[in-house]
Amino acid sequence: MPEKVVIIGSGPAGWTAAIYAARANLQPLVYEGAVNEANRLKGTLPLGQLNLTTEVENFPAWPHVDSEALQAFSRSALPPERYENLRGFYEGKAAHRGKRAVFGPELMEYMRQQAIHFGARVVTDDIVAVNFRQHPFLLTSASGEKVEALAVIVATGARANYLGLPSEERFKNNGVSACAVCDGALPRFRNRPLVVVGGGDSAVEESTYLTKFASVVYVVHRRSQLRASKIMQERLFKNSKIVVKWNRVVEEILGTEEQGVTGVRLRSTVDDSWEVLEVSGVFLAIGHTPNTDFLRGQLELDEKGYIVLTKPHSTYTSVEGVFAAGDVADPHYRQAVTAAGTGCMAALDAERWLASRGWA
Ligand code: NAP
Repeated sequence: MPEKVVIIGSGPAGWTAAIYAARANLQPLVYEGAVNEANRLKGTLPLGQLNLTTEVENFPAWPHVDSEALQAFSRSALPPERYENLRGFYEGKAAHRGKRAVFGPELMEYMRQQAIHFGARVVTDDIVAVNFRQHPFLLTSASGEKVEALAVIVATGARANYLGLPSEERFKNNGVSACAVCDGALPRFRNRPLVVVGGGDSAVEESTYLTKFASVVYVVHRRSQLRASKIMQERLFKNSKIVVKWNRVVEEILGTEEQGVTGVRLRSTVDDSWEVLEVSGVFLAIGHTPNTDFLRGQLELDEKGYIVLTKPHSTYTSVEGVFAAGDVADPHYRQAVTAAGTGCMAALDAERWLASRGWA
């Protein structure tokens, strides 16, 4: 028997789709992604980008609250093995004391648990190939498992971009990172100068976070104005540990195999000048690429790889019965709350589409 609906992806869009689909009795099967080193390096581990962030201050219903209250909430809401994923936030050296917003990983564990509570089934694996030319659709997982589905919701999100420099590739995992929250606390970055590349909200968030560990954080931005929202910009300008290097790009990352990154060569974007900064880490915050490689040739994508939505105010794609939600189809808003909203829409669209054919 084919599945009624398979959901691919486990960020806010995927779990919200799963909550709605489960409550509509569609018994959704969620492929949440595989836990492995390749996905870690690419930034495509289960629970999505929110799982790689710190405080989420703009997701409604999560005002600042005592960390202890969140600990009690996590203990009560989650099974013990999932609570373990969050334990470090509440206990030990890295524990947060006092009031704070919900952390991204907390929010994601709560969403996952909510979907499971209503009956969503979860497979911890990647879908690596799809055949949307046949119906039921055929999906193949990384471990070779095949699953048939009457409807599919794609919610695979997006991953961080890199500059594409050979020197960047050389020092990945040895001083180059696209995730300050994952790697910032490593000993090699402590009390050392660091670079963050980019001028958007991510660059501000990552640089602010890194000031907890670094001696100074240079934000290298190619223009003379940040793209980040005003409130985030204010946060950056108030932080005395952050120095913005305006109108500059990273031309080369310097270092040795033994030491990893030891510096960067910056080139000016307005004249011929260049300079070398001594730093022990380079963090990229220069936007994202949608995770749609496995969909090429099967679904209409735009020139940047985002899934093209074919009907206004809906989650319909170029293939009937395949719906898309979250960042994978959204180059504009890219917020956790909009992803969750479109996850809800995708589940409702799938339910109505299945019902119209007598399958729901
Ligand atoms: P973004 O807004 O697209 O910003 C990317 C930045 O990287 C831009 O400043 C861009 O420069 C720069 N850039 C891009 N390619 C580059 C290259 N090859 N070399 C040098 N610089 C390059 O991406 P984001 O900051 O990741 O934010 C994405 C979305 O997530 C946004 O909607 C943002 O609001 C949201 N977000 C929100 C929060 C929050 O509210 N707490 C936190 C993080 C992200 P230009 O400015 O010159 O184009």
